[in-house]
Amino acid sequence: MVGKNLKMPVVFIGHGSPMNAIEDNEFAKGWQGIAAKTPRPKAILCISAHWYGEGTFVTSAITPGLIYDFYGFPEELYGKQYPAKGAPALALRVKEAVKSVKVRLDEIRGLDHGTWVVLYRMYPEADIPVIQLSIDGNLSPKEQFKIGQELSVLRDEGVLILGSGNIVHNLSLVDYDANPYDWAKEFDGFVSKSLEQKDTKALFEWKQNKNGKLANPFEDHFVPLFYVLGASGGETPRFSVENIFAGSLSMRCAVFGGLDG
Ligand code: ZN
Repeated sequence: MVGKNLKMPVVFIGHGSPMNAIEDNEFAKGWQGIAAKTPRPKAILCISAHWYGEGTFVTSAITPGLIYDFYGFPEELYGKQYPAKGAPALALRVKEAVKSVKVRLDEIRGLDHGTWVVLYRMYPEADIPVIQLSIDGNLSPKEQFKIGQELSVLRDEGVLILGSGNIVHNLSLVDYDANPYDWAKEFDGFVSKSLEQKDTKALFEWKQNKNGKLANPFEDHFVPLFYVLGASGGETPRFSVENIFAGSLSMRCAVFGGLDG
């Protein structure tokens, strides 16, 4: 139950492969563990790496469909359903809460796999309404952080804000037999340490890290972290699923605030 004055946590999930929807692995278990320790949300607002582009949009469909935005995976994955309802009223609330940029409603778009693969594990009943906010790739980390700050008010309204990406995400160097690469460990360590020390400035300047470009050749999976950080209001993170998978995918998750805080 969400108490009247309870502030919901903010969560960053390292989502990795879509296979995490159907494989019973340590990642799925880790996500389930986070959900188990989180007060039941009234709604979920997800900021996923897989909705990255120009401008800031929020989904407002009453019944969002699923987007199977991945290729070459087993047929079983393309048949998965996650029939969570949308939350058009919450979409309007987001539009109202975010003042630093214009937020536009998208009545058509469904949930991409950065959202549904994770929620399929965290909340398999699909009985909590879900909306998504897009990432504006033209914004600086500071501006993305600001949007997170503006969204943090929703935490007092029972909304779980969830960023879905990966702290290290280099698909071209994925090797299922590889141990974590040194540069991946270094960058993952830099991020976790900066989060613990609340060194937001160092995180904003992540591209200057010597392994930044190797860790994230594209920024789409990294930057959901800035929205999460803004919404976190400076709380100390608790980490789970701290593994680096297939050499170059950090599966690290971070939870800010909430009951255990
Ligand atoms: Zn992804």
